[in-house]
Amino acid sequence: MLKNSFKKLRVVLLDRDGVINQEPGPVLTPEQFVMIPKSAEAVAKINDQGWQCFVITNQAAFARGYLEDSVFEKITEKMQRELGKSGAHFDGQYYCPHHPDWENGKQLKSPNYCLCRKPGTLLLEQAAAEHGFVAEETIFIGDSTSDFAAASSWGTHSIGVRTGHAGRDRKADAEPDYWQDDLWSAVEFLLTATS
Ligand SMILES: [Mg+2]
Ligand SMILES: [Zn+2]
Repeated sequence: MLKNSFKKLRVVLLDRDGVINQEPGPVLTPEQFVMIPKSAEAVAKINDQGWQCFVITNQAAFARGYLEDSVFEKITEKMQRELGKSGAHFDGQYYCPHHPDWENGKQLKSPNYCLCRKPGTLLLEQAAAEHGFVAEETIFIGDSTSDFAAASSWGTHSIGVRTGHAGRDRKADAEPDYWQDDLWSAVEFLLTATS
């Protein structure tokens, strides 16, 4: 089970919706942010292990005009509170507010692609540059094909979880390197693989 890629592991990159919290569609209010069972405990285990933990999330609701900074901040605060109940925290969050077909709540006549929206890798590159890690030291845990594609383009491995989209979204033609039921199982898998 032990792969060379896990020997250097010290950073866990997490998608948010469908991994940490349920994905009923876009999360537009703090009330719609509902934790997946044991995801906070899983992040606490990441913290206890001394691994850094960053959230990497697409939030196209900004581009569609359904979300603004102040509400996103409140949603982030709720995530921090919910994690805090289990003594867990994340070390940073990176998000893409764009969508190729939308800008400031208006539909675009021709698509405008950014580099940060997963499967783009810019958010991963930014996190790595700002916190001084490289792809070989990381693993990406996500529920969407765009997560798996971003991880693989950037040069890291991914674990797919069967919560949220469970890889069924078909946005990108990508498979994760491993599958686990949820974030808790994914972290247990990592603890075993690195011990
Ligand atoms: Mg997701
Ligand atoms: Zn973007």
